Amino acid sequence: MPYLEIKNLHKSYGKKEILKNISFDVSEGELFTILGPSGSGKTTIINCISGVTDPNSGEILLDNLLLDNLPTNERNIGLVFQEYSLFDNLTVRDNIDFALQAKIRKTLPDILKWKLLKKERYRFQNEIEIILKKVDLKDHFNKYPKQLSGGEKQRVALARALIQEPKLLCLDEPLAALDKNLKKELQKEIKRIQRETGKTFIYITHDQTEAFTISDRIAVINNGEIIQVDTPKNIYEFPKTKFIANFIGDNNLFKIEKIENQDNKLVFVTDKGAKFVFQETNKEEIPQLPFTICLRPEKLTFKEKRLYNNLKVKLNDIIYLDGRIKIVGGLTTGEEITTMCNSEHNFSKGDTINLYYSEKDILILNQ
Ligand code: ADP
Ligand code: MG
Repeated sequence: MPYLEIKNLHKSYGKKEILKNISFDVSEGELFTILGPSGSGKTTIINCISGVTDPNSGEILLDNLLLDNLPTNERNIGLVFQEYSLFDNLTVRDNIDFALQAKIRKTLPDILKWKLLKKERYRFQNEIEIILKKVDLKDHFNKYPKQLSGGEKQRVALARALIQEPKLLCLDEPLAALDKNLKKELQKEIKRIQRETGKTFIYITHDQTEAFTISDRIAVINNGEIIQVDTPKNIYEFPKTKFIANFIGDNNLFKIEKIENQDNKLVFVTDKGAKFVFQETNKEEIPQLPFTICLRPEKLTFKEKRLYNNLKVKLNDIIYLDGRIKIVGGLTTGEEITTMCNSEHNFSKGDTINLYYSEKDILILNQ
């Protein structure tokens, strides 16, 4: 049974259709990411879930409850944004305290809540300390926001959202303003906190590395349409469309315009004349011409020589990246091809080498 169900969501601003029939399910305790380029409609989905925006049509169910007519403040959805929106005149502790009190005020009638707030003061302080320890801010209880780094402020924002015990926490590009190292550190932290609290998170990002680092599952969105919902592994290994193959990691894409037979093998011929041998066992997958094939750079090898499946490549560029070498070369037909190797190889620009591939690694894309 899905915990969050989004069914056929449509949203337009004026004549422009921003969300086109968005549907997906999220399980309880899942870290689910919506990944897509800027302007693709990610924030609009969160706005519909949290009630900031009304969709034109479609349904949103959270824990079996239809959210459509529920006001924003009764949906019990936590939000964390790129901007921290902390109160500058309150300490870290008091920022969290404020959120906790706001939650209590929202859920209890007047007299009761004031009595409770007075009586339970100690317990609340205790809860605040627990949550601040959870987000690793135990040394910062009494600091003001201006005394904190960007990463620490975002931890406060996370604690503030969590203390309200939301049924769902939506994080909209929370790390976009942070530098690379801090980003990496907080990605790990967010994942840890999500696991420890067991809360359901919807995480929004335009950064594919971030999505792959933290997510249980990813929905890839482009132009207001969800194109693929799957685990990071499947999205990488089996991208459904050309857009995803291009957007996620490096890729070699070739447009196939002709199919030939050679020594009982199927040979795909590109628009420029390059040839790729295809594994016959997958024959039934072959769509109508023209179509696109993709070959991930790391699937190409220099070593295991193959008679048919080889490509002559002239090296145009050699780029050092995180202890690996990215090689950008050109086929004799002029098409560009990229591969990766470890830094022990001594290739130089201008060298001509043979690259080999396995037939099973050629992936056919339908669009
Ligand atoms: P993302 O979060 O993926 O960057 P958004 O959901 O913010 O994208 O926006 C998607 C599209 O909707 C953009 O083209 C944006 O200009 C448009 N849009 C968002 N909010 C409004 C609004 N209130 N009025 C008109 N257009 C909007
Ligand atoms: Mg956005």
